[in-house]
Amino acid sequence: MALTKAQRAALREKFGGRCAYCGQPLGDRWHADHIEPIVRNDWYQRAGFSIPQRGPDYPHRDTLENMNPACPPCNIDKHSMSLEDWRVIIARSNEVLTRDVSTFRRALRYGLVQLNTKPVLFYFEQLAQKDPS
Ligand SMILES: [Zn+2]
Repeated sequence: MALTKAQRAALREKFGGRCAYCGQPLGDRWHADHIEPIVRNDWYQRAGFSIPQRGPDYPHRDTLENMNPACPPCNIDKHSMSLEDWRVIIARSNEVLTRDVSTFRRALRYGLVQLNTKPVLFYFEQLAQKDPS
């Protein structure tokens, strides 16, 4: 759905002008993310397979209530995933970095970076923990 200027301005301030997910301040080019995606997860399409263009799979989810303000990297990374699927992907970051990036493994060996196992909490969840209301 196309948001009015007022709706877009209100959505931008939903979490104090910060990305709902990583908490970084939103720049001028922030995205309105659908919390529950309006298209089916289309990893096969992203992997380069050709699929005919289609409309949203879940048009009833295209509402302001189902939107969060997101920085472009978070919105692009989340893409058509649910929050819980995306959380699993984010939680695997250390495993993937350690497996795939020799510079990261070297930084680990020399103590320049440290792994931790804290759970992935989105910014809006951190806010809710601080101010349960
Ligand atoms: Zn973000």
